Amino acid sequence: MKKNKIRVVIIGAAGRMGQESVRAITAAEDLELVGGIGHKELDSIGADLGEIAGIKPLGIKLSDNLKDCIQRTKADVALDFTIPSAIFNNANICLDCGVRPIIGATGLSNEDLKELEKKANYLSSSILVAPNFTIGAVLMIEAAKKFAKYFDGVEIIELHHDKKVDAPSGTAIKTAKEISKILEKKSKDLNPSAKARGDLVENIRIHSVRLPGILANQEVIFGGQGQSLSIKHDTLDRSAFMPGVLLAIRKIIDKKGLIYGLENLLD
Ligand code: NAP
Repeated sequence: MKKNKIRVVIIGAAGRMGQESVRAITAAEDLELVGGIGHKELDSIGADLGEIAGIKPLGIKLSDNLKDCIQRTKADVALDFTIPSAIFNNANICLDCGVRPIIGATGLSNEDLKELEKKANYLSSSILVAPNFTIGAVLMIEAAKKFAKYFDGVEIIELHHDKKVDAPSGTAIKTAKEISKILEKKSKDLNPSAKARGDLVENIRIHSVRLPGILANQEVIFGGQGQSLSIKHDTLDRSAFMPGVLLAIRKIIDKKGLIYGLENLLD
């Protein structure tokens, strides 16, 4: 029997990640793009989603009303690539309307996450929060967790484009938190208050670089007796996020409750 296509709405469809997702979802045979949401004040409200994304017209107009859009289109999943202040409200609307949210933007507090988890469980639905959709970055964290117990110290250098407002990045913070649970020995910092030593997260140093021309890179450097080991991940363009986005859309359908991190969907 032929499987039904998964019906997807993109919130923030006119943005950079939104447009990349429009291109990736329309190219996938098992997925159907059914709607796109933009900010109320956007000039492109009412414009064709395909034309906004630089591909052929799709006959789907950019809307500014999430609730109306998901009820009208009977969407299964909503992919949110907007801004931290919008994602909690969007996720609540989605869950209330029977749609599974996939949140790509960071900014949810622990209280927000608990509330959304409770709602998803109550409604027998699911929600995915994925601070990083690049499968390489997820694997980098998994590898770092494996290596941590064999070294005396670790520091993280993350490099991002100059439009990124938060520092350190969500991925660097997550890496530090995960490693700190495993790192047994800690190398001694002789001048911990020196400004050039970066930020401290869970006792692990993170150094943030912001420059035009860079998208998103991270290096995790372990140091031990007479040796060092580096794991490096480079995101070269936004298409790097799309295999993870498509995987998330396909897998969220059969899940229940809150899933935090793409790694929980990898085999
Ligand atoms: P962007 O180009 O600024 O796109 C964001 C879009 O969302 C803009 O078109 C914006 O409209 C729109 N928007 C803002 N508030 C909205 C709302 N309430 N309802 C509907 N649309 C709204 O940014 P981007 O580079 O695509 O990144 C989007 C988000 O994804 C950011 O939070 C970023 O950190 C995150 N991100 C996540 C990953 C990951 O792997 N998880 C990767 C890259 C980026 P206006 O311009 O009119 O405000």
